[in-house]
Amino acid sequence: EHQPGRVARVDRGVCTVLTALGPVRASLGGAVLTVAARDPSALPCAGDWVLLTHWPDRRVTVEAVLPRRGALIRRTAGKDASGQVLAANLDAAAVVEPVHPEPDVGRIERLLSLAHESGARPLVVLTKADLAANPTALARQLAAVAPGVPVLPVSAETGTGLDPLRAEVAPGRTLGLLGPSGAGKSSLVNALVGAVMMPTQAIRRVDGKGRHTTTWRALVPIPGGGAVIDTPGVRAVGLLDGVAGLDRAFADIAGLAEGCRYADCGHDGEPACAVREALHSGELSTRRWESWRRLQGEISHESRRRETRV
Ligand code: GDP
Ligand code: ZN
Repeated sequence: EHQPGRVARVDRGVCTVLTALGPVRASLGGAVLTVAARDPSALPCAGDWVLLTHWPDRRVTVEAVLPRRGALIRRTAGKDASGQVLAANLDAAAVVEPVHPEPDVGRIERLLSLAHESGARPLVVLTKADLAANPTALARQLAAVAPGVPVLPVSAETGTGLDPLRAEVAPGRTLGLLGPSGAGKSSLVNALVGAVMMPTQAIRRVDGKGRHTTTWRALVPIPGGGAVIDTPGVRAVGLLDGVAGLDRAFADIAGLAEGCRYADCGHDGEPACAVREALHSGELSTRRWESWRRLQGEISHESRRRETRV
C-alpha cells in the first residue's frame, strides 16, 4: 500500500517524509536505488513528492520519486556530472545575501543564474537590513545586477520587509533559500515560521575539511501556509549548467546582444557589436561584463569536458 508524502530532509540515505499522518522515516527502496545508481540526481531531496511503502516488518521505504516541476541543482567540477539536487519543486527561489559587511555582487549573480535555472520564480533577499544605513537604496542599487527580479531588504531581527516573503510561503507554495552560511537563512526561516524551530548556531559542526557547515537542510512547513526549504549553506553552490539560467540572470547583456550585427557575435571585437558599444559608453559596467564572461566560460568549459568523456 502506497502512501504519498513530501521529503523534508535526507540524512545518509534516510528520508524524513511529511505525510498526512505525520513525519515518517523511510529508507530508499530498490527501484529508487537502481535508478540512482545510473543518475544520482534521481535520489530524493528536500521538496520531493514521494510514494512510501509500509512493509509488514514495519520498515518504510521510498518506492518512487514523483516527477519534479523543477529543481535547484548543484554541480561540482570533476565527478558526478549529473549533479546533486539541493531542493525540488520550488515556486520561488530566493538568493539570500547579507547587507553586512557588504553584499557580494558576484555571488548574487552566480546564485541568481542557478535560481533562474531551477524553474522557480527568482528573488533576491537582502538579509540583516537592520545593519544597513539605507537598505532601500542598497536594494535599488542591486536591482541592476538582478534584472526583472525583485530585490527585497529584510530583517529577521526586527521583522521589517517580511511580508513579501510571507506571500511566497502562502498555502500550496514552496520557497527555497539559496545563499552562503551565515547569511541569515535559518533566522529567516524562524521569522517565517513565527517560532524558534531551527537553532541558528547550535546546529553547526565542523566537517572533515575544517569548515563550518550547516547540517540542517530541510523543508519546514509554515503553520497555516506552504513551506520553506533552507538549502545547505555552501560557499559557492557549484557550477552552472545550462545557458538558460545565465541568459535570464544577465537579461541586460542578452538584450544588448540582440542589437549586435551578427547573431553569433562573440562580443570580442566584431564590427557593430552592441555589447562593446555599451561597455564603451558605460551603459554596461566592466565588472558585470567580466562576471558574465567568467560564468559563461565556466559553462562552456564544463560542457566541453563532459562531451569529451562520452
Ligand atoms: P545561516 O547560516 O544562513 O542560517 O545564518 P543564521 O540565520 O545562522 O545567521 C547568522 C548570524 O547572523 C547569526 O549570528 C544571526 O544572529 C545573525 N542574523 C541573522 N539575521 C539577522 C538580522 O536580520 N539582523 C541581524 N542584525 N543579524 C542577523
Ligand atoms: Zn556583440
